Amino acid sequence: MNDSAASDSVPSSASVSGACAASPRLRGALETFPPYIPGKPPRQVEGLEPFKLSSNENFLPPLPAVLDAMVAHATNPALYPDDAALALRQGLSDRLGVGLDQLIVTTGASELLVALTQITSDTTTEAIYPWPSFEMYPQTTGLVGSTRHEVPLTADGRHDLDAMAEAITDRTSFIILCSPNNPTGPVLRDDEVRTFLDKVPSHVLVALDEAYWEFATAPGRADGLSLVRDYPNLVLLRTFSKAHGLAGLRVGYAVAHPPVIEGLLKAVIPFGVTDLSQAAALESLKHWDEVLDRAARIGQTRDTFAAALREQGWDVPEAQANYVWLPLGEKSDAFEDACVEQAVAVRNLGDGVRISIGEDDALARVLEIAERFRFEHFEK
Ligand SMILES: *Cc1c(COP(=O)(O)O)cnc(C)c1O
Repeated sequence: MNDSAASDSVPSSASVSGACAASPRLRGALETFPPYIPGKPPRQVEGLEPFKLSSNENFLPPLPAVLDAMVAHATNPALYPDDAALALRQGLSDRLGVGLDQLIVTTGASELLVALTQITSDTTTEAIYPWPSFEMYPQTTGLVGSTRHEVPLTADGRHDLDAMAEAITDRTSFIILCSPNNPTGPVLRDDEVRTFLDKVPSHVLVALDEAYWEFATAPGRADGLSLVRDYPNLVLLRTFSKAHGLAGLRVGYAVAHPPVIEGLLKAVIPFGVTDLSQAAALESLKHWDEVLDRAARIGQTRDTFAAALREQGWDVPEAQANYVWLPLGEKSDAFEDACVEQAVAVRNLGDGVRISIGEDDALARVLEIAERFRFEHFEK
């Protein structure tokens, strides 16, 4: 009889804690970036309706036809979905005027960011993106161990495209642009993106993240579809999560030239997008005008809300999506606390607070909080 085997089978408290100390060795790259932190739910406060303005979700109810399509497609879950998402890609192809071979459907634009990083980046390459911007950029590029160049935004929350162009080296393999930028709000202009892309070597893949394009109204804004026609190294990221109001179903898509799509097809998870999600997204595409109308209405609400904040004295950058950004700096925590106390969840990103456009009652409450906050913190 083997003594050590016998003692192994009787775990003492010492061996349990020993097992903890010897946790598996994970890649060092994991130490270089924080995990993704989702927007918090609102706190329940007696007598106040809670509002979640922390995740840029669409606050409008789903289109009835989309709900009907979901019920109709609640079919046999024993079967895998259509991996090629052919019907949805055909719908997108018709709607956007691009070829089927220029489209890929994924589990949200989030999966695209992961896959794009996988097909471009490793420990020998460098990635460039603006900062502050979408929190997944440091996560995906950090995970593969690429060197990250976070290029600070200008004082008014815009990409500093000159500085981004200057950050390009021989090792640059992946660049991300975000328009409208999450969390600050401004869009990129068509002319400035073209000037930038003309400086990027053609072997460097550039992703233009247009998760919020439907809400943008600024004249001269970049139009990803026309840009992608002219630049074979550009890939466009879009999603059904925001304007279409389908965040819970996890559907996004990319538009790019066929070689990029072929690369992405090797990096995405097979069968990621369920038939239910594909059917709902396709139905929503059929109601494109209605989706764009609703986005435009949210855009008007945003403009009114941003104007009211500026009227109070806040320095709000150009807001072109379904949120506004308050550059609060070190007062961000205090502002978030003031919102939490009033049953409103906002997104505190350290440099500032992002507030999603929601119901009129929600925005009216935020305006009251913001006015009181200015009085207590700035005007005393
Ligand atoms: C919400 C968001 C996405 C992707 O969201 P999905 O739900 O994964 O499609 C991508 N980029 C930005 C900037 C976003 O805010």
